[in-house]
Amino acid sequence: MPVFTHAACFAHDTGPGHAESPQRLGAVVTALRDHVPGLEWLEAPRATRGQLLRVHDPILLQTVLEAPDRLVQLDPDTVLSPGSPEAALRAAGAVVAAVDHVMGGLSRTAFCAVRPPGHHATDLHAMGFCLFNNVAVGAAHALERHGLSRVAIVDFDVHHGNGTQAIFAAEARVHYSSAHEMPLFPDTGDPRERGAGNVRNAALRAGTGSHRFREAWREQLLPAVDAFAPQLLLLSAGFDGHRADPMAHIQLEADDYTWITAELGAIAARHADGRMVSVLEGGYDLPALAECSVAHVAALAAGSAR
Ligand SMILES: [Zn+2]
Repeated sequence: MPVFTHAACFAHDTGPGHAESPQRLGAVVTALRDHVPGLEWLEAPRATRGQLLRVHDPILLQTVLEAPDRLVQLDPDTVLSPGSPEAALRAAGAVVAAVDHVMGGLSRTAFCAVRPPGHHATDLHAMGFCLFNNVAVGAAHALERHGLSRVAIVDFDVHHGNGTQAIFAAEARVHYSSAHEMPLFPDTGDPRERGAGNVRNAALRAGTGSHRFREAWREQLLPAVDAFAPQLLLLSAGFDGHRADPMAHIQLEADDYTWITAELGAIAARHADGRMVSVLEGGYDLPALAECSVAHVAALAAGSAR
């Protein structure tokens, strides 16, 4: 199975002590190289301006791509550094390339080991560690370049993907499902938020463990994804729901990420010839991030062979 990544993703410098550190990507890459055999490591291309403009305002492109000569705080969480423009272009470009790879029949599944993460970025604003909305750029590419009419974005990061939801809330060709801790940043994702009928949100209380997590997906979200009959699944794969993660209060184990990946793989097999592209989002405890990435990518790779 292909893994798209790029060395430039390490050069997005968030400053000392920032949770969204380059060491996160190092932990993921090292763990996957050591523990998931048979991965094909591919260099992510840059997303083009045209690919980014499908989901982002030109003002955001200008903000992110004008490289500063020092660290600039875009908001209290979100930092722009001299290396950030190239990292952001490669992170979004990885998802575009992975979509092309899977749609071209070269493999059924693919993983994007990238940073900065993306699901909080809106059309106009970088926020919550995110510069460009990588998964949204990939979904728009699947619609416009590959002519798909049903793309599902499934978000199991512990935070709500407010940016992804807002970008596609009126786009009937995209279904968005998310389970996330509430209340928690970014304070969106109430189950009453349904977009144009294409959005499903499940709220998880602090302290939620494996049983309740799986129940929420099984009862509230997976049936909606299945009913949408997606031609392609894109996953916002955040691992900050792990019990060791310092950013949230959900009590998942690595095995829960194996489970959700297999459940989504079954839906992909029914409707999408198995096609799934997964994109790294959050996960801030390095050992847990490494363990969960291995669990998820091994399950994703199990469905990859053509
Ligand atoms: Zn998160």
